[in-house]
Amino acid sequence: MKVSTFDDLLVDQLKDLYSAESQLVKALPRMVKAAENDELKEAIQDHLEETKKQVERLEAIGRQLDIKLTGKKCKAMEGLLEEAKEVLELESSPAIVDFSIIAAAQRVEHYEISGYGTARAMAEFLGYQKVVKLLTQTLEEEAAADETLTKISTEHILAEDAKMAEEEMMEPAY
Ligand code: FE
Ligand code: FE
Ligand code: FE
Ligand code: ZN
Repeated sequence: MKVSTFDDLLVDQLKDLYSAESQLVKALPRMVKAAENDELKEAIQDHLEETKKQVERLEAIGRQLDIKLTGKKCKAMEGLLEEAKEVLELESSPAIVDFSIIAAAQRVEHYEISGYGTARAMAEFLGYQKVVKLLTQTLEEEAAADETLTKISTEHILAEDAKMAEEEMMEPAY
């Protein structure tokens, strides 16, 4: 595609995000299934529902700017999800599986955070205040999802695994 103005560039960025989110709607259910820990399962399920709304939000932006968002594939998200697939095939302890899922999911969130941050900066520059507002909502959801994943990994996955190891050590030897 020809990108000669900031408007073109914003459209290109929005198309990339639209493809990324659409790929996620398909991929997240597999992560929910693979997660062992209930908090993790729930968090990814919740974010799946949010992700569906984020797709709708991008569609609203498309109507707002009178542009089509289809026709581009986000290759980076394709790659991140390819890596995530490896994680889903991992055979290991629940804590290792969950921690690997979190690692893959956080890479996804960080990619989204940077994409939405850039798009929002451009929309701001171009003076599209309604678009800025919509992108900010999604950006905040992505940041919150990332924080939730960090919280689950430290407070549940790692903490519970450490406790289990400790309990094993305290078991009588006979
Ligand atoms: Fe998203
Ligand atoms: Fe991309
Ligand atoms: Fe996300
Ligand atoms: Zn827990």
